[in-house]
Amino acid sequence: MKEVLNALLDLQDIDEQLGELERSKVYLPEMIENITKEMKTLEEKLQENKEKLVESKKKQKQIELDVEEDRLKLAKYQDQMKVIKTNKEYDALVGEIDSKKQKIGDNEDEILKLMGIIDECNENISELELKLKEIRKTNKTHLDNLRNELASLESKIADKQEQRRGLTKTIDRKALILYERIRKGKGGMAVVPLRKKACGGCFKHIPPQMIQQIRRGDRIYTCDSCGRILIWVNEE
Ligand SMILES: [Zn+2]
Repeated sequence: MKEVLNALLDLQDIDEQLGELERSKVYLPEMIENITKEMKTLEEKLQENKEKLVESKKKQKQIELDVEEDRLKLAKYQDQMKVIKTNKEYDALVGEIDSKKQKIGDNEDEILKLMGIIDECNENISELELKLKEIRKTNKTHLDNLRNELASLESKIADKQEQRRGLTKTIDRKALILYERIRKGKGGMAVVPLRKKACGGCFKHIPPQMIQQIRRGDRIYTCDSCGRILIWVNEE
């Protein structure tokens, strides 16, 4: 019977490992997701800044062309001033000149604003690129390990299940059914060691006579209180 108990312990070991592997299917992708989230946020910010930089440069160029054109027109108007004949013509031209000057001034303000934005984008880009480089370097090994672990999960589970099938074939059917029933009912350990003269599962005190019987291990004993299979371990 001791062999059956030992086999049940081994089986429980395999089941615990299988449980851990199944949980890994959930938490490994979560860990990968959390680590990559920080990088993704930085990558998005970097992309935003790059797009803003291109757009602002394009805008600046367009406005500079407008200013250049307006300056030529302004020079032309000022030339015309020299040959003006009537007051009406004079008033009209002064109006044109004033509005061109106003437009040039506004556009120059806009160019200054855009140059500020361009400087800011360039600063952000170098800062973000540096940060990303550091984070990628720090996370690389960690992520590689997590991804490898995730990739090998299915084959590890298959191996364990194969090992489990092999083991269950060697275990007494009644003992196996008892084990499966307790494990399902308790949602965890079905075989527990005696600890300090008590059940290792629910801590209920076990009478000395029963402890002796469990120690002999000539049949399967279960805890009166929680129903788990009790085994003797040498440290007791
Ligand atoms: Zn118990």
